Amino acid sequence: MSARKERRDADHSSGASLFDLLSLDDEENYSDELNEEMSSESAKQKLSSFLSESGNELCADCRSPDPKWVSANLGAFVCIKCSGIHRSLGVHISKILSVNLDEWTEEDVDSVIKLGGNAAVNMKYEHSIPNNYRKPQPDSSIDDRTDFIKRKYVMQQFLNAEEQLSCPFIPAALQCSATGVNSVVEKKYLNSMRMHNFSQAFLNTRKRKDAEQKPAKISNSTAGMVEFVGMIKVNVVKGTNLVIRDVRSSDPYVMLSLGNQSVKTRVIKSTLNPVWNEKLMLSIPDDVPPLIVNVFDKDKFTTDDFMGEAEIDIRPLVSAAKAVENSNAKGSSKQLEKMAEVISDGVITAAEGKTKQDIALKLQNVESGELQLEIECVALSQ
Ligand SMILES: [Zn+2]
Repeated sequence: MSARKERRDADHSSGASLFDLLSLDDEENYSDELNEEMSSESAKQKLSSFLSESGNELCADCRSPDPKWVSANLGAFVCIKCSGIHRSLGVHISKILSVNLDEWTEEDVDSVIKLGGNAAVNMKYEHSIPNNYRKPQPDSSIDDRTDFIKRKYVMQQFLNAEEQLSCPFIPAALQCSATGVNSVVEKKYLNSMRMHNFSQAFLNTRKRKDAEQKPAKISNSTAGMVEFVGMIKVNVVKGTNLVIRDVRSSDPYVMLSLGNQSVKTRVIKSTLNPVWNEKLMLSIPDDVPPLIVNVFDKDKFTTDDFMGEAEIDIRPLVSAAKAVENSNAKGSSKQLEKMAEVISDGVITAAEGKTKQDIALKLQNVESGELQLEIECVALSQ
C-alpha cells in the first residue's frame, strides 16, 4: 500500500488531531502487492539516502540526532518527541510518517525531497527567529517543544517579513509579534488557538459519537499535552464466532483505543467470522496505558450494538522493544524468551529489529467471540 493511500485514509479519520489512522485494504492482488513492495523498498532507500544528507541528520525542531520521522507536507525530518507534537497539531498542519515503518512510493519520496529537507525548511520557518529566542534542545520539556513548534509551523512567527505579510492565516496584528511588540494580542491569539484546537477535538468526538458507539473512557481534554514514547502498529487479523446482533448475523467492526486516541477498522457486513487484515497505528503515551479493544455491530438507524471487549497490557511489549533497541537484536533473544513466559496475552518475538506480539483474544462481557491481533512496537529511543 502506498503512503498516499494511507494519507487519504488518515484525512478521513475522525480525531486526526491526535493520531493517524492507517488502514490497509486487500484490493490489490498478489503480484501487484509484490511490485508495490519492491518499489516501496527502492523508494525507502531513496528516502534513507536523502535522510543522510547534511541538515537531515538532526531533528529540524530540537536537533536530536538521527530523526526517523518526517512531516510529509512540511518536508521536515523530526525526532519521535517532536513528531508526537506535530501529530497533535492535526494532519492539516503536519502529516507525520515514519521513515522506516510506513510504505513509501517514489512519488511520495520525491515530493518530500522537493521540499528541500531540514535546511530548506528551517531557512523558511526559522528565517526571522529572534536572537534571544532559545530553540528547544534534545532534552527540552514537552511544553517548550510544543510552544516552539506551534510558533514555528502553526502561527509561522519566524517567517521572513515578506512571507509573513502574504500568509493569510496570521492576523495582521500578530505579524509583528515575533519580536515581542504585541504580546497581549499574541496571548489572546494563542488562547483562541487553544480554544480552536480544543473545539476541533470536541467536534471530532461529537462527530464520532453521532456516527457510532464509543467507549466512555476516552476524553480529549489532554489533547496535545501527551508525550509519546513510540508507536504500535496493530494488525486486526480476524474475528471468530462473534455474537449475533442483527436478525441473523452482525456487521462487525473493531475499535482500538490507547490513551486519548481511538481508531477503527472498516465494517464487514453480515458475518460472524470477519477477516479484516487491517493495520491501524497508534502513538504510545509515556505512561503506556492498556490497549482497549471493542467490537461493535454497525447499525444504520440506532446506536451500534456492543459485541465484546478486551484489554491488552502492552507494557511487556514496550519493554521488549526497548530491550531490543538497547542491545543488538541477536544478543537479546535469551532475554526475550524469558519475557514471553511472563505475558499472558500471547508470545512476543523479535526479528529483524521488529518486536511483535501475536494475540488470540477471548472477548469479555459477551456470550462468545475471539479476535486475532498482531501488534508491532517501534522506534522508542528517538
Ligand atoms: Zn525533536
